[in-house]
Amino acid sequence: MDIPTHSTTGSTVLCRGDFQALDASDPLSRYRDQFDLPTGVIYLDGNSLGPLPHRARERVEDVVSRQWGKGLIRSWNDERWIHLPLSTGGKIAGLIGAKPAEVVVADSTSVNLFKLLSVALRLNPDRRVIVTESGNFPSDLYIIDGLTGLLEHDYEVRRAAPGRVEDAIDESVAVVSVTHVNYRNGWMHDMQALTAKAHEAGAIMLWDLAHSAGSMPLALNEFGVDLAVGCGYKFLNGGPGAPSFLFIAEHWHDRAQQPLTGWLGHANPFQFDEQYVPANGIARNLCGTPPVLSMASLDAALDVFETVDMHQVRSKSVALGQLFLQLIEQELAGFGFEIACPRDPERRGSQVCIAHEQGHAIMQALIDQGFIGDFREPNILRFGLTPLYQRYEDIWDTAAALGEIMRTAQWREQRFQTREYVT
Ligand SMILES: *Cc1c(COP(=O)(O)O)cnc(C)c1O
Repeated sequence: MDIPTHSTTGSTVLCRGDFQALDASDPLSRYRDQFDLPTGVIYLDGNSLGPLPHRARERVEDVVSRQWGKGLIRSWNDERWIHLPLSTGGKIAGLIGAKPAEVVVADSTSVNLFKLLSVALRLNPDRRVIVTESGNFPSDLYIIDGLTGLLEHDYEVRRAAPGRVEDAIDESVAVVSVTHVNYRNGWMHDMQALTAKAHEAGAIMLWDLAHSAGSMPLALNEFGVDLAVGCGYKFLNGGPGAPSFLFIAEHWHDRAQQPLTGWLGHANPFQFDEQYVPANGIARNLCGTPPVLSMASLDAALDVFETVDMHQVRSKSVALGQLFLQLIEQELAGFGFEIACPRDPERRGSQVCIAHEQGHAIMQALIDQGFIGDFREPNILRFGLTPLYQRYEDIWDTAAALGEIMRTAQWREQRFQTREYVT
């Protein structure tokens, strides 16, 4: 893709027409129609809650009124509700470079992380160190501490400095548990290199893909990743609170035993045996009854990806990001913004972050004008890049709106100063 480059010598200044031209030749533009996007809104928060795909709405309506309303309990079999964790997992496998039988959908990311950390520690029973990264998503850090607090041995939780995880890996490490793309600043690990490093030391590699699944091609099998979890409601557009997914490489399936041994992970749940016998394969990672409404919504949302080339998604995401950063420098110079995400697209996930000491109020003013991004403490304005429904023009318009808010100091208005519970 040809992106005009803005150099300090002033050779190219971006204008709106450049963005419109990119939209006109965008191979992904046809996917925008598959989403129910409110008019007057430019959505830049699909990394936090994906928007509603039409087919998710249609599916949920059908599941509620026909499958549940008319089919009642028969639908567990007739509509294959009971198989959704595996069939929906199979759809996600295609997006992350895994085999269908290696992925299952269940519970939340936090709960799945608990399960897979437990699996990892059992696979490496003589080691007592868990490596993670400071700046990792807090829930991931809390879950690691919650789990080690339960265990009879003393575990060391080694929180490496951001970007320095490799230095913390040695032969005492049982598992390396980090998030591929950092939620706050978009920093992206080299999945292949870090996985190889963990393996060299004999550690299990556990990735959290919350901010990467659905935003770029992933190659878990190719890189030999052992374990992974990911989120259903961010780039996968499964809807608020949609369940999460977990991945276990096939060669670990026989030895992977997670501790939340609920009945649906049993080899034969409807025998109602009093003794737990784990199911074969990935199914043993289920615990309780699947949330069918949410799972149906996620399942339908994944069908949007069926014909999508994830390499195209990634290259558009990179282009949107580079252009956005260029515009921030071109249009917002002198307003006190600092680029807070990596400029190098190789190191950046699918988001652009800028820091400003009035970041919260500025984001509220931007949202008030229909440009929805979000804010992360202490000072980060975060913009999710979602190539399936974003237009290049949206990036131009967002930067222009931001410039206007700064020029007029609208963010100073009293109504933009209060903080809601969810930011
Ligand atoms: C969004 C996110 C989660 C969310 O966890 P839930 O249990 O689904 O609320 C976990 N980890 C990371 C890295 C995330 O970005």
